[in-house]
Amino acid sequence: MVLGCDASKKATAVGSEVSTPYAAPSPQSSPADQTAVSAGPAGPALHIDSTRAWQYVKDIVAIGPRWSGSKGQQRLGEYLHAKLKSDQVEEDAFVADTPEGKFTMRNIIAKFPGKKDGIIVLGSHIDTNYPLRNTSFVGANDGASSTGLLLAIADQLRGKKLEGYSVWLAFLDGEEAIRDWTDEDSLYGSRHLAQKWQQDGTTKKIKAFLLADMIGYADLDIQRDTHSTPWLEDMVFRAATHLGYQSYFFSQTLHDLKDDHLPFARAGVPVADIIDIYYGYNNAYHHTIEDTLDKLSPKSLQITGDVILETIRLLNASAESSLPSAPQRLPS
Ligand SMILES: [Zn+2]
Repeated sequence: MVLGCDASKKATAVGSEVSTPYAAPSPQSSPADQTAVSAGPAGPALHIDSTRAWQYVKDIVAIGPRWSGSKGQQRLGEYLHAKLKSDQVEEDAFVADTPEGKFTMRNIIAKFPGKKDGIIVLGSHIDTNYPLRNTSFVGANDGASSTGLLLAIADQLRGKKLEGYSVWLAFLDGEEAIRDWTDEDSLYGSRHLAQKWQQDGTTKKIKAFLLADMIGYADLDIQRDTHSTPWLEDMVFRAATHLGYQSYFFSQTLHDLKDDHLPFARAGVPVADIIDIYYGYNNAYHHTIEDTLDKLSPKSLQITGDVILETIRLLNASAESSLPSAPQRLPS
């Protein structure tokens, strides 16, 4: 993510625009209105182990830079496969045409089958910023935090008979621009996977795509995003409220944020980007070598991970017919 006045700006934001997210619910917000959730088909509330999540983030940062095509990313791929070795894992390899030539990229997808017909996809990008490849940039928050978080979520799904929807974890390559952010030079992995899933019919089965990005910052403040699907964001906020974490969510709204959720939104999938794009005073740590572990906290991983798991529970508890499929408010 990039925010600010540089050429690769990806979003603008208006502070405190939404202080009461339920003040003006959209017509599609009905599934989020059911406050009573049965413990039955939705299953019990799950929580991540933040100590393990923190260790995963540390391990990933220790690999060093992990830009698309780098040795570091190769090692990260091996690390993910090792951590997911007892799970159903697939690779989606492809060649991306970039302003710097052809890059071999790969998404890694871990599938946890559920009993209900339908899929909830959780996403994170695994690449670090390419233009910073000759620096010490390690992307502790921007890349590692959400990737480690998905591994910690996998720990909670593994070995359980999921009564609800299947949950797929999508580790996405090539989120970052190779040169300067444009629609063509960005989101390589998510664009490829969204297209593939549209062609093979998977898209129709996806009930929700929840993206995590830059969620490790110790001063966590996740923004509402106008390109996300309102009813799904309402559901995320309700999940946060159930856990007492609502003060970390949606005090500000992002406009025209571009991230890995967009290709899925364009394909008709309900999406929510769970992101805190303000990283440091005046966004000082974002896309700089200051994006290091000492800015993050296990608590922020706990908050985000538990809210994602609770959102899954709410999705499972919602009646099938009440989950709208059409996205709203897409970028033109
Ligand atoms: Zn980035």
